[in-house]
Amino acid sequence: MKIIRTILGDIPYNEIGITDSHDHLIRSGGPEIGLDKAFLMDDVNSAIEEFERYIAAGGKTMVCMDPIGCGRNVAKMIEVANACRGKGHIMMTTGFQKGNNYCPNTSFLATVDVNKIADLMIAEIVEGMDYHSYNGPVIERTTAKAGLIKAGTSYRLITNLEQKALKVAAITQKETGCAISMHTDFGTMALEIVGEIKKNGGLPEKTVLCHMQRNLDKYYYRQVLETGAIICFDEPNKPQYRPDAVIAETILWLVEQGYEKQIVLGMDGGRMEALAAYMEEKGKANGLEYLLTRFVPVLKEVGVKQSAIDNMLIYNPANVFAIEV
Ligand SMILES: [Zn+2]
Repeated sequence: MKIIRTILGDIPYNEIGITDSHDHLIRSGGPEIGLDKAFLMDDVNSAIEEFERYIAAGGKTMVCMDPIGCGRNVAKMIEVANACRGKGHIMMTTGFQKGNNYCPNTSFLATVDVNKIADLMIAEIVEGMDYHSYNGPVIERTTAKAGLIKAGTSYRLITNLEQKALKVAAITQKETGCAISMHTDFGTMALEIVGEIKKNGGLPEKTVLCHMQRNLDKYYYRQVLETGAIICFDEPNKPQYRPDAVIAETILWLVEQGYEKQIVLGMDGGRMEALAAYMEEKGKANGLEYLLTRFVPVLKEVGVKQSAIDNMLIYNPANVFAIEV
């Protein structure tokens, strides 16, 4: 049977519904906060309100991509999921961000044997995520299981530490059947990432390459998609990088080239100003519902058919995130 592993339990894979394939609702700490306070999103009530806005816009499932060592907060996410029980599903991830979030000499990613780290990731998927997100020597498992695996790479570089995390991800995938969802930096190294995953026995068709809109090059996308991997476009509403229409027109081109089964969508809000509920004190902002209320209409406007939109929002996430149990 094929299932989707949500943090409140497994559901049949065809019940995933409209899915934001890369996002964030809670981030309680981690190195990114040091770069910018806007990365701190630690309020359960705001997260619930934000998830409810997304559900009200037609959303059903949100894939929350906070990995080990980057402020993942399993207990708070369980609170959010429970508040919306029966209305929406939340998936969470195990695994790692790009290498600069971990000490290359002293982090457990650096010092522990690759198979032992994979065992820790596998346990988060089959037993339950660690309450402490492996921040120390005490492991206390929650009831919430991870539903996918994360890894990350640097800008035009896959560091030695990142190659190790990719190997961990591939081993974990072989054991669990879970998808690997990748942080690509500015969309670079996608072909090399797929190469590393294949080399270690993982599957391109169960690999999602996120943030690819940062390298808006349709011929590069075609090369990547020919490997069988999935591309995630996860950044509408960031016109400082490019208008939504440019992403939408690129998606139309890919759909016309026959790749509509290999594209998924997300918002990757990731920062306080991208989540309307967190911004209420300051003013009125668009939240994660923007994907459905504003970006999908642009897709339609440029000529992407509803059947392709359904694939990108529902059926492709159902297939790539499904686990055989
Ligand atoms: Zn993200």
